[in-house]
Amino acid sequence: MIDAFRDLKDLRQAERKAFGVPCPACREKLPNAQPKILQPGHLCRAHKPHYRDPRPEPTAAEYNAAMAGTGWAMKEPTP
Ligand SMILES: [Zn+2]
Repeated sequence: MIDAFRDLKDLRQAERKAFGVPCPACREKLPNAQPKILQPGHLCRAHKPHYRDPRPEPTAAEYNAAMAGTGWAMKEPTP
């Protein structure tokens, strides 16, 4: 249980490193704040209007390519 939790945390951290981009709306509206790190398609609620990251979810191939070297490239390919 504890290990699974740590693994999930590591995975989120690796995804953040591979796909995360600082929210451009945060940088514009909240220049003194640390911008939220957004994953593809995620919503930033730090300001109004909310900002949705315009990137589509990565395909399995893109995911595995981006996660190569992290030890986490294991998403099942989609048919
Ligand atoms: Zn934001």
